[in-house]
Amino acid sequence: MTENTLQEEWSAVCNRIRSESSDGVFVRWLEQITPSCAETGAVSLQVPTRFMQEWLKEKQYDVLIADFWKSENPDVGPISLKLQPHREAVLEKPTETSLSSTVVSETAHVEEAEAFQNTYLDPHFTFENFVVGKPNEFAYAAAKRVAESNNVVFNPLYLHSSVGLGKTHLMHAIAWHIQKTNPTRRVLYLSAEKFMYQFVRALRYDDTVSFRDLFRSVDVLMIDDVQFICGKKATQEEFFHTFNALVDQGKQIILSSDSSPLELKGIEDRLKTRMAQGLVVDIFPTTYEMRIGILQSKAALMGASVPEDVIAFLAERITSNVRELEGALKRVIANADLLGAPINLETTRQVLRDILDIYEKEITIEDIQKAVADFYLLKLSDLKSTRRDRKIARPRQIAMWLSKSMTTKSLPDIGSAFERDHTTIIHAVRTIDELKQKDQQLAADLALLERNLKA
Ligand code: ADP
Ligand code: MG
Repeated sequence: MTENTLQEEWSAVCNRIRSESSDGVFVRWLEQITPSCAETGAVSLQVPTRFMQEWLKEKQYDVLIADFWKSENPDVGPISLKLQPHREAVLEKPTETSLSSTVVSETAHVEEAEAFQNTYLDPHFTFENFVVGKPNEFAYAAAKRVAESNNVVFNPLYLHSSVGLGKTHLMHAIAWHIQKTNPTRRVLYLSAEKFMYQFVRALRYDDTVSFRDLFRSVDVLMIDDVQFICGKKATQEEFFHTFNALVDQGKQIILSSDSSPLELKGIEDRLKTRMAQGLVVDIFPTTYEMRIGILQSKAALMGASVPEDVIAFLAERITSNVRELEGALKRVIANADLLGAPINLETTRQVLRDILDIYEKEITIEDIQKAVADFYLLKLSDLKSTRRDRKIARPRQIAMWLSKSMTTKSLPDIGSAFERDHTTIIHAVRTIDELKQKDQQLAADLALLERNLKA
C-alpha cells in the first residue's frame, strides 16, 4: 500500500467513525493516532500513550477500525495497535542500563503532560446534562459550589453511592466547568486505580519525586472510586501524604467511593478520618420522574426520537441504576438503527427480554413462606398451623406482611395461602406495620428477608 492510499483510507475510516460513533473521547483521540504500513501489508496504528492503547483495546475499537477499514479496502492486512516507538523504548525496557536519569525525567514529563490533558473526561458528563431530583440535589449543589468557587469550600468533597448513580458524571462536570471558566487552574482527575498504577510505576522507575511533584502541583485533585485502594497499604500511605500536602496548601480535593469514608474496609483509621472531615454527600437511587428526565436527555444526546410510552416503560422497569437504564436505552436505539425498525413497546420488550426477565421474576407467596420458615428455623407447616405461641405467630404475621407488600395478590388470596380469613391478614399487616417502627431488630429482619427474596 502506498503512503497516499494509506492516508486516504485512514481518513475515510476516521470520517465514518466521526459520523457513527457517539463516543466523544474516541472521536477526539483519532487525531492522535498515526497509521503506518509494513511491507507485508500489515497496518499498525500508533498511539502516543499506553493508557490510550489499553483503552482502545478494552473497548474493542481496534476491531471496529479493522471492520471499517475492510469495507474501504477488502485487501487490507491485519490491523494492530502499537505504542509510538519512542515511548516503547522508554517504557518497555526499564531494566536496560541506558535508562539514565534524564530518560526517567522525560518519562515523568510525558506522564505529566498526559495526566493534565484530561483526555478521558467524557464530554457528555456536564452539569447541563445532569438531571437533578431529590435523591441527588444535595450532591449536585455541592459539586456545583466546588466548581464555581475559587477557594476551597469543603475539603474534601466526598461523594458516595452505589454504582451508576452519577458520581463520575459529577466529577467530570466539575472538571469541565473549571477548565472552561478558569483555565489556569490545574485540575487533575483520575481513578484511584490509575493513581495506584502511576505510583507503582514511579516506584519501579525510582522516580517518586516527580510523582509527588506532579500530584502536589495541582489546584484541584479528583480521585474516583477510592474504595479501590482498600487493603493496598503502600498506595494508601502515599495517598495520605498527597492528601495532607494538598490540604495544607489549601488545594481542593474531591473523592468518590461506593461507601461513606467510615464504612470503607481495609483503610487506615487516620485516612478515614481525613476523608470524612470535609463534606460527605451520598446520592440516593433515582425516582421515576428523574428516570423519565434522564431518558429524555440521553435520547436527545444520542439524536434519537423515542416515543413517550417506551420512555415510561423503561423508567418503570429499570430502576436499579442509571447506567443500566442508559444501557437499555442504547440497545433499543441501536437495534432500531441497525434494523431500520421503529422504536415501540413491542420492539423494546423484544430487545430487552434478557434484562426484563430479571426484573420480572415474580415473587410468590410460597417463596415468601419458605424464606420466612428458613429464616426463623420453622417448618413450612407451622406457618399454616393454628399454633399461637409467639415463636410461630410472629413469623407467620411477617410472612403475611411480606405477601401483601411483595406480591400483587389480593387479601383473600393471601388468606387462603395461610388457611386464614382475609381479616387475619389485615390484622397481621397492621401489627407488623406498627411494630417495625419501634422494633429495630424486626425492621432489620424484614429488610434482610426482602433483599433475599429479590435476589
Ligand atoms: P457512578 O460513577 O456513580 O458509578 P456514573 O457517573 O458513571 O456513575 O453514571 C453512570 C451513567 O449514568 C453515566 O452515563 C451518567 O451520565 C448517567 N447518570 C447518572 N446520574 C445521572 C443524572 N442524574 N442525570 C443524567 N445522567 C446521569
Ligand atoms: Mg464512577
